[in-house]
Amino acid sequence: MKFQDLFHQPPDAIASAPGRVNLLGEHTDYNDGFVLPTAIPQTTTVQLGISNNHHYHFYSENLDEYISLDDLNSIPSDFASYLFGCISLIQQKGYTIPPLNISVQSTVPIGSGLSSSAALEVACLRGLRELFHLNIDDVEIAQIAQQAEIQYAGVQCGIMDQMASSLADTDHLLFLDTRTLERQVLPFPVGGEIVVIDSGVPRSLASSGYNQRRAECEAAAKLLNVTALRDITDPEQVETLPEPLRRRARHVVTENNRVLEVRSGVSLLRFGELMNDSHTSLRDDYEVSVPALDRLVEILQQTPDVFGARLTGAGFGGACVALVVAGQARTIAEQTLEQYNCIGFQGKILIPDTEIKES
Ligand code: ADP
Ligand code: MG
Repeated sequence: MKFQDLFHQPPDAIASAPGRVNLLGEHTDYNDGFVLPTAIPQTTTVQLGISNNHHYHFYSENLDEYISLDDLNSIPSDFASYLFGCISLIQQKGYTIPPLNISVQSTVPIGSGLSSSAALEVACLRGLRELFHLNIDDVEIAQIAQQAEIQYAGVQCGIMDQMASSLADTDHLLFLDTRTLERQVLPFPVGGEIVVIDSGVPRSLASSGYNQRRAECEAAAKLLNVTALRDITDPEQVETLPEPLRRRARHVVTENNRVLEVRSGVSLLRFGELMNDSHTSLRDDYEVSVPALDRLVEILQQTPDVFGARLTGAGFGGACVALVVAGQARTIAEQTLEQYNCIGFQGKILIPDTEIKES
């Protein structure tokens, strides 16, 4: 439903933000490590208007859900918590925000690991910045967005998704040091293109598994006497840890080194090898893959013109990303999906995005 039809007034501000796909550096952001995401063409758009009846009204076109709040005294559930969190945190910075009507539409797949949540937060904060002339920059937007997700949506996330949504674009890779927030915009590798396929397996154990991995990493860092696993650069150093901490830490240390290698400049072939190594490490050391993701990655890795492939996002289901020869993405995605779905899965191509092109 259109903003005008819902609220009987035009929006006062409109803002968008993209989803992201992480090419390398998985489960490193909460270890103060390095990540390498890029923005995806799919975006979330938020339309905002000042409410004329003193209540907050939030609508998601994707979910066809409408939520009305009298005030900001108790956190609503589900999608409204992200918007509520962004508004509350801006108010806590000393800005006065009147009750708002907010409508959300998105082409970012929800819950597939392409960060629809960060796109929602960043789009909302961009809209608030525009409407109320807030003096906040893109890095602050990412930081507030992350806090909204942690404090209001109850997801203990790192900063990667929000930084990518706020600062990345689709033509570049965003190298990010999640400890210092130092970043470097790298050109997208010439001759390469991305394929992302959803495995069709929901990320059912993702939040419990994620919290457990976080706790294991903290325990490993403590035993190694460092602030975070990012402080370990030599994989040999983790060999003294008890299992499973040894393997968990080894994934983080080797994954950080893979991101740094790409940052230093590598060929597409080497980039692909590092993505393949990342998947092996996520599967065997970090144990966040599932058979469906392994199968999908295997099909991609065996396909000509694919440089490398791995699961992307937290794992336990969700999507895989592949780096392929430019111009071949659609063909490779379609062939892979056919093979994958033939063995009983219900995968879906997320990138290249047919829906955006057709609309
Ligand atoms: P991901 O960020 O990988 O897509 P998350 O589980 O982190 O998955 O975030 C998904 C949640 O974000 C949804 O369950 C919903 O609450 C919220 N969300 C994201 N996009 C939208 C949208 N367009 N409309 C309503 N809620 C959304
Ligand atoms: Mg998310």
